[in-house]
Amino acid sequence: MLHIDMDYFFAQIEEIRNPEYKNKIIAVCIFSGRTEDSGVISTVNYEGRNVGIKSGMPIVNAKKLAKSGIFLPADHKYYESISQTIDGLIRSNCTKVEKSSIDEWYALAEDEVETGKRIKLEILNSTNLTCTVGVAHSRLGAKMASDKAKPNGFLILGKEKERNLIDNSPVEKIIGIGPKTKDELNELGVKTVSDLRGLNQFILIEKFGKKTGAWLYNLGIGIYDSEIEERIEKGEFSRIGSLKENTREKGKILEKIVELEREAKEELKYSKKFYKTLTLIFITEDIKMHTKSRSFSKPRGEKETNLDEIKKLMSEFLDNERKEVRRVGVKFSGLVEMDGQTTLF
Ligand SMILES: [Mg+2]
Repeated sequence: MLHIDMDYFFAQIEEIRNPEYKNKIIAVCIFSGRTEDSGVISTVNYEGRNVGIKSGMPIVNAKKLAKSGIFLPADHKYYESISQTIDGLIRSNCTKVEKSSIDEWYALAEDEVETGKRIKLEILNSTNLTCTVGVAHSRLGAKMASDKAKPNGFLILGKEKERNLIDNSPVEKIIGIGPKTKDELNELGVKTVSDLRGLNQFILIEKFGKKTGAWLYNLGIGIYDSEIEERIEKGEFSRIGSLKENTREKGKILEKIVELEREAKEELKYSKKFYKTLTLIFITEDIKMHTKSRSFSKPRGEKETNLDEIKKLMSEFLDNERKEVRRVGVKFSGLVEMDGQTTLF
């Protein structure tokens, strides 16, 4: 399994696009528009990290740390176009690809070490951007390898090294273990992944449910997920909007989601489409994006109400995340034509 992760993606793109900023502190910002400088840092280059600027930091604070820094608004359209170029390069080299965010991919290939090296070079040649590649036997291992080797790195983990790295990792560093699960595991005396090994499978299942319990048990004994979810979106309708203020209040968040859902449904109605998947998008105060989805066995149309599902997905998210929510979104995907299929459902 390969994990390909672009280095400080947005800020690096701005460095390349504006050579005059070379060796300067560059921070790409999400301006909220509430006041002139209100908003947060999205991505910062290593020069900026060295003086303490971080993703998610208020722009005002970051400016205090770097008086001569360059603070630019995010140009998502441009970043997206570069992401698509990279996506094309990866797909032409790999047998199976999952794009997990605008700047991260999981992929399978025949000779993964060779392919990883080639992709790294091809990305550099066509975009001038560096990335870091991790190669391991599982998703988790590949992601940990690239995290460890950043920036502009390449790290191959054999089975034994992969196991060691995961085993020694604090549980909260594992993707899929949120703050709530972390606390519950700590209560059971589990601090690192290797501590899971002493636990009985049935106790884990009783405490965390069948799916999570079994997953944690496997994690402890060194069985890791190596599935790739091939995602080629065949169109979707989505709406994202900012909350009036950052909050964790369910009522306020729900109100906004319902409003956005209504807007997305208008498009659905207009284009005569049904959808199979409903996704809620949450962007937290540190501007990390989180999603929660529900897929339906029968496609749904604009008339079906999703209030119960929305409430459930929202609770699932808030129970496992302590940060305040800044923006929310609704996405309908897995679209199918309404015409001629109406009799099926
Ligand atoms: Mg990255």
